[in-house]
Amino acid sequence: MRIVFLGPPGVGKGTQCRRLVADLRIPHVSTGDMLRRAIRDRTPVGRLAAERMDAGQLVSDDIVQQLVERRLDSPDCAEGWLFDGFPRTIAQAEFLDRMLASRTTPLDLVLELFGDESILVQRMLRRARVEGRTDDTPETVRARMRVYHSQTEPLVEYYARKNLLARIDAIGTRNEVFERIQESVRRARPNPD
Ligand code: AMP
Repeated sequence: MRIVFLGPPGVGKGTQCRRLVADLRIPHVSTGDMLRRAIRDRTPVGRLAAERMDAGQLVSDDIVQQLVERRLDSPDCAEGWLFDGFPRTIAQAEFLDRMLASRTTPLDLVLELFGDESILVQRMLRRARVEGRTDDTPETVRARMRVYHSQTEPLVEYYARKNLLARIDAIGTRNEVFERIQESVRRARPNPD
């Protein structure tokens, strides 16, 4: 299956994505992880991305699109994938549409996890203390929320219009949320014949 996973920072997207890819046996393509790896490896992309990420801002569409295009053409992505953190702008979504159209591999489902913003902000600040993520200071948490609302949330409408969207309430235990996700995946599964 080919799945895009959307959701504001702190909604528990990473955890649920990891469970879902294990369940469906498809690669987990996280642009955030790819960028963090590039920073760790001190690549040119990492150098360009670091400042934007630390400020809670988006890295440029060009950089991210290049990373994704290369990843999508690797053999393990032939049978499906889950995108976590991409697309994040309408321009990226249009790029993805063009890429998938040229490969005749349409998207099957867009999952949107949603939850109360004040709970999400608390979760992120707690995670920052536990994991020591440098992009989870109170200022950047607020910046990332603003960026989500202004640049990424329009994708919800974009995919709803294409009849690809399933909205999942992220409030509940991890198992409850995962069961909701599985139910949406079952409904969207392409017909085997
Ligand atoms: P994430 O791990 O998905 O929360 O991403 C962490 C950070 O990486 C974001 O705050 C952005 O700075 C950057 N990033 C990840 N994915 C993208 C993307 N698709 N477009 C632009 N920036 C991204």
